[in-house]
Amino acid sequence: VSEIKLGSFRGGVFPLHEIHGGKDLTKDMPIAQMPAPDIAVYPMAQHIGAPCVPNVNKGDRVLIGQEIGSMKGFVSAPIHASVSGEVVALEQKLTISGSPVLSVLVKNDGKDEWVEDIQERTPGEIAALSAQDIRAIVKKCGVVGLGGASFPTHIKITPPPDNAIDTIIINGAECEPYLTSDHRLMLEQPEKLIGGIKLIIRAIGGGPRAVIAVENNKKDAISLLDGLLKAEKNISVKALEVKYPQGSEKHLITSITKRQVPSGKLPASAGCLVVNVGTAIAIYDAVHHGRPIVDTVISATGDLNRPGVFLVRTGTPVQQVIDHCGGFKPDVTKVISGGPMMGISIYDYSVPIIKSTSSLLAMTDKHAGIAPQTKCLRCGRCVKACPMFLMPAVLNRLSVMQNWEEADRYNALDCVECGSCTYICPAKLNITSNIRRAKRAVMSARKRS
Ligand code: SF4
Ligand code: SF4
Repeated sequence: VSEIKLGSFRGGVFPLHEIHGGKDLTKDMPIAQMPAPDIAVYPMAQHIGAPCVPNVNKGDRVLIGQEIGSMKGFVSAPIHASVSGEVVALEQKLTISGSPVLSVLVKNDGKDEWVEDIQERTPGEIAALSAQDIRAIVKKCGVVGLGGASFPTHIKITPPPDNAIDTIIINGAECEPYLTSDHRLMLEQPEKLIGGIKLIIRAIGGGPRAVIAVENNKKDAISLLDGLLKAEKNISVKALEVKYPQGSEKHLITSITKRQVPSGKLPASAGCLVVNVGTAIAIYDAVHHGRPIVDTVISATGDLNRPGVFLVRTGTPVQQVIDHCGGFKPDVTKVISGGPMMGISIYDYSVPIIKSTSSLLAMTDKHAGIAPQTKCLRCGRCVKACPMFLMPAVLNRLSVMQNWEEADRYNALDCVECGSCTYICPAKLNITSNIRRAKRAVMSARKRS
């Protein structure tokens, strides 16, 4: 592991939350099991791509691990029950994103019965699996990107036609302030992580090296993994500068390989594949234990009375997590799914935890940094902070003027929505939301033409 030269990229910010100890709240807390919900709610869209179709009816009994939502399109991933019990409804329910989605509701019978066809595999059986077999198992188990993107993993680990991937980057940067679930996973399940990485290397064709990329504020995880990887020829760990958005795919690639992903292209065009730590562990569980995704590790943190890191079953209401953490401290005005930089505000706490939920963060106005807006001061700080070499102040103005053509010319689509510009702006302008709006308008205009 390189301690001397930390991997990094140009731009980015150093969020104050970090200096004030956002991660200290939970980074030393072992992963604890959250009780199962009484009623589990499974939205049929928990991934990028086509939503699933329910394959159960009201009144059916389901078991843990049973597929209750089947893939409808090529880019999709099946959904499995996380409790045993009775299907009590199929109806539209609000999700963390704020939109209603067709959902299956299961009343937990408390028996915790698993389906029988969960397939434990012996080392011999695992050694005999082909790349295609590994991808088929990952697909059957509904594995999606657990770093927030929720892209179906069986597609991600399919080599592109030219298969020029020479570097697999395992994203353990966890650069968002407050979040610690990946850190805890690296400390508590390192063997599974390394086993999952070996399966990814096999699925992609066996040739590439793999690098576990970890921000240098997780020195314990870096040294643990470094020790375990001593005998491995093609897997290593690399320490990265503690800077946001170090965990964004494009910036990780630059930090590790010094390559740039060209505008509008995917990581494969720079010879890289980026997979999150939790996803690699989910691949291990799927292949070794035949275990579909029925739970996920989240940090429940910020202004909660008893913050912690929890293994939560999918379908658990956000309210249950808040209650389990002893409720809010006084004056909490905001609950965010994800980190403070890129997360989504939650307005209805009945919404369920889904596969890719990584964190629930409660914040008071003071910690959320909510302040009145003024006019742009033309200070240029947003330009300096933008890791995509954009001009956020200009894009912000073009979005307010709804000048989508010019926004396209100023490369609005290259914005990775990291929020660094909004964070650094002394005028407190909603730059990222405005650019997000511009991106949507530019994409619709391009589709129309
Ligand atoms: S313009 Fe986009 S990529 Fe650049 S700092 Fe703002 S949100 Fe990040
Ligand atoms: S950081 Fe804010 S105030 Fe400064 S130039 Fe950018 S938009 Fe204007």
